[in-house]
Amino acid sequence: MHTPPLASGPQGPRHLRPLLDTVLDALHTGTHARGGPLPTGGPDTVTAAVHDAAGDLLPDRGDPDALRTLVHAFAAGAADPAHPLCAAHLHCPPLAVAAAADLAASALNPSLDSWDQAPAASALETLLTRTLARETGHTDGLVTTGGTEANQLALLLARETHGTVRLVHGANAHHSLPRAAWLLGLPDPVVVPAPAGTLDPVALDDALTRLPGPRGSVLVAATAGTTDTGLIDPLPDIAARCTAHGARLHIDAAYGGALLFSDHHRAKLTGLDAAHTITLDLHKLGWQPVPAGLLTVRDAHDLAALHHRTDYLNADDDTEAGLPDLLGRSLRTTRRPDVLKLAVTLKTLGRTGLGALVDQVCAHAREFADLVHADPRFHLHDRPAISTVLFRPAHAPDPAVAAVRRHLLTTGRAVLGRARADGRLWLKATLLNPATRPDDLRALLTLVHRTHAEGPR
Ligand SMILES: *Cc1c(COP(=O)(O)O)cnc(C)c1O
Repeated sequence: MHTPPLASGPQGPRHLRPLLDTVLDALHTGTHARGGPLPTGGPDTVTAAVHDAAGDLLPDRGDPDALRTLVHAFAAGAADPAHPLCAAHLHCPPLAVAAAADLAASALNPSLDSWDQAPAASALETLLTRTLARETGHTDGLVTTGGTEANQLALLLARETHGTVRLVHGANAHHSLPRAAWLLGLPDPVVVPAPAGTLDPVALDDALTRLPGPRGSVLVAATAGTTDTGLIDPLPDIAARCTAHGARLHIDAAYGGALLFSDHHRAKLTGLDAAHTITLDLHKLGWQPVPAGLLTVRDAHDLAALHHRTDYLNADDDTEAGLPDLLGRSLRTTRRPDVLKLAVTLKTLGRTGLGALVDQVCAHAREFADLVHADPRFHLHDRPAISTVLFRPAHAPDPAVAAVRRHLLTTGRAVLGRARADGRLWLKATLLNPATRPDDLRALLTLVHRTHAEGPR
């Protein structure tokens, strides 16, 4: 029987090379066929194109052209974060060097649940997590699938360290925090008002004063970079109030964490290191292919709660004989070496290179806000704290704002997000593409104006 070529082993690179040519060609033709940031025609058209390309996905006899056909359709129907008018979400264009490193991770397929499946990968993971933890002022960290898993782990570690925990978070917190409380069977969280988009420390103090219970039984979650507006909670003030009340502090820096790499913006995160746990997400401001999340911990002992033993992965005698025990580094078992792309990126760009990317996207956001502010056809919500700008056509009712966004999506011309602030609906531009030029930002504004002026459809 003919065996399909394998990706690793001595012949792996030889097998991969022609297939990579096919993938790169199909990425090229698919991206060209799309032409813009998003396919045109909306969900029905895209679904029909995908069904058309896929045909019978499990035919009796295989199709040797499947790689080309499906990668072409995948690219033609993609939302491309490298397109300058694709700016809705915290959805970044990945660096080519990170995607290339990820190919090696896929080819070798190490799994980080035991040393004998991932000898070098596990050593690299230890280095990478310590390096990033040190950057936040912490001692250790866990690799996660993103901010959601990191926030869940933060709640779990708090509960395991203190026996029980009540979550207190701002009204501006990410939805994954109350969801994690629900998942872990914790009491309903206390929600502190965030009238200006950031957690109000005085209201937090009131909430902490009213809550009963022993010290440490309260976990406050603050946000460094909110999903809607990119605002950063007043971290030093919040940290001081947590200390005064003996509450544990988690900071969700999924968006803002990468400001640490920038000399210009690092000071916005002052107070970050006061947290017991910090969520980082380098598939946002970090230019990594998904997934690239981390949870850093101030006290590495907190991680003991995740210790778990199963004979075939970390038998006591193997651990005593010196084989690293990896099972306590995650709640997952089989686990991808997401650290390779991260390590390659950090070392290739260095702090200066990463900091320059952060500076660029923050500068684009300021330029875009300036354009909006100077243009009487638009209202600007606020100057950006990181790289998010909320704006709306002047005098447009909310349904018209929503219709503009949907029309841009279904015609494939621009991908903007939406956010509610001050009781109104805004268009949201999250600028994460360092290659965006000032002309692109002007073009985006013109496009939004024309779409709105052409009226409801
Ligand atoms: C994106 C985001 C998350 C969730 O991260 P995922 O990687 O999508 O799981 C959590 N918190 C904040 C503030 C975020 O912006």
